[in-house]
Amino acid sequence: GPSVAFDAVVKRYPGGTVAVDGVSVAIAAGGFVALVGASGSGKSTLLKTVNRLVEPSAGRVLIDGDPVDTIEPHRLRRRIGYIFQNVGLFPHMTVAENIAIGLRLEGERRNDVRVGDLLDLVDLPRDLAERMPEALSGGQRQRVGVARALATEPGLMLMDEPFGALDPVTREQLGAAVRGLHDTLGLTTIMVTHDMAEALLLADRVLVMQAGRIVADATPRVLLAGE
Ligand code: ADP
Ligand code: ADP
Repeated sequence: GPSVAFDAVVKRYPGGTVAVDGVSVAIAAGGFVALVGASGSGKSTLLKTVNRLVEPSAGRVLIDGDPVDTIEPHRLRRRIGYIFQNVGLFPHMTVAENIAIGLRLEGERRNDVRVGDLLDLVDLPRDLAERMPEALSGGQRQRVGVARALATEPGLMLMDEPFGALDPVTREQLGAAVRGLHDTLGLTTIMVTHDMAEALLLADRVLVMQAGRIVADATPRVLLAGE
């Protein structure tokens, strides 16, 4: 996957809240970075500047050196997979249709989507393809969300509390699956979580946010050794 760089990024929301207060950090191609911090510290806002769900008030975000606002929106969406809590599958569509929509929205034909391969990638049995989302467990639904995010073969995965609504065991299984996908597909991954233990387990690098700033930046090895 590509590198991602934040260059003096500031986000001030209408009303005056400064959610991101001057963040400069470079994430290496193929890295797995966790953004950790208390609720309201600006993690989601910073993440969303990468896929332009949020436009910075100042500063720039670059993917492989290109400012994101110079990348064609259609191309940007294809290059970035985005997963959040309760991915929101369409309830009236089968698993296969939910996965295919990830690509169809980008103008591909349904037959071009290798639904079976994508189910394999997220360790779901292929015979789930024709089920409706309501017939799946919460963990299975999140896996379908991951499969949908992978349909456009993105190099970059953005995840915002992807396992937040799941029980601890399912959470751990899904974490391992996401780490496995990162390793196998060579994805650059940025994961927002308020769970430091999860960050230490999964990420190569942990960025701690507080009041819109990055206040710590270290590998799990260093953090676990204690300062
Ligand atoms: P986190 O992901 O760490 O919980 P957020 O980025 O969601 O933090 O929020 C950072 C701050 O910005 C909070 O004070 C939050 O209330 C505020 N905020 C987030 N989104 C908006 C928005 N769309 N409009 C106004 N304020 C927002
Ligand atoms: P998250 O922390 O993952 O952004 P939230 O539940 O805090 O989730 O926010 C849900 C939605 O509401 C998000 O789109 C966020 O940008 C927006 N939001 C959060 N805080 C505020 C706020 N103070 N004013 C307006 N919108 C907000």
